[in-house]
Amino acid sequence: MDGRGNLDLRVVKIERGFMPNAEGSCLISMGNTKVICSATVEERVPMWLKGRGEGWVTAEYAMLPRSGKDRKPRDTGKPDGRSVEIQRLVGRSLRAVVDLKALGERMITLDCDVLQADGGTRCASITGCYVALAEALQTLRLKKPALTDSVAAVSVGILGGVELLDLCYEEDSRAMVDMDIVATGAGKYVEVRGTAEGRPYDRKQMDRLLDTANVGLETLFRKQREALGEILAP
Ligand code: UDP
Repeated sequence: MDGRGNLDLRVVKIERGFMPNAEGSCLISMGNTKVICSATVEERVPMWLKGRGEGWVTAEYAMLPRSGKDRKPRDTGKPDGRSVEIQRLVGRSLRAVVDLKALGERMITLDCDVLQADGGTRCASITGCYVALAEALQTLRLKKPALTDSVAAVSVGILGGVELLDLCYEEDSRAMVDMDIVATGAGKYVEVRGTAEGRPYDRKQMDRLLDTANVGLETLFRKQREALGEILAP
């Protein structure tokens, strides 16, 4: 719909250190989807983790009021189910690549604030949070590295019978199948969520969707490495 090939990601940009007050941060853009990710380190853990010698990584997600086509009120007084689902996914995804023992009794909060929403904000949040987290962890100078792998996410879908990579909102809203893939740099999956809108999909389509996602993930891992530069290769 926006002139890309079916296997093309939107233009990806990761600007590290976007919020200098945070221990780690970046602005990630996937075309018109833009998310600010920050990582805050605190020398404490939640009550339920105290005394175990382990740390915790958690996430929060919010869309700025005018990030979408319509204004989304900041606070409606009701819990926003979608945001809760997304922040849990982001937290789980990043914890999947953190050695919580190596982190020690510390808590890292990842904040994802959507500046512009054009589909795939949860995937952009995960890919960007990895960069923010790596930057924050570097400031701790831990004896044992706390990151065990990298993690990134991309959306794929089926529209008009063909598999597409990295759907924009227009594509996402018309897709017959809509899938989010969270994977590690070593090629393992953290989460695969795929929903059929209407007609169910089969195993062959599922395999093609996973292959399509791999094309995008390869680029995303490269962009993360480029953004982190000396942090990954001190
Ligand atoms: N969207 C919006 N307002 C909302 C929820 C969603 O404008 O309250 C738009 C936005 O462009 C978002 C897209 O719908 O990126 C798809 O939303 P979805 O819940 O599938 O999450 P996402 O694809 O952003 O991870």
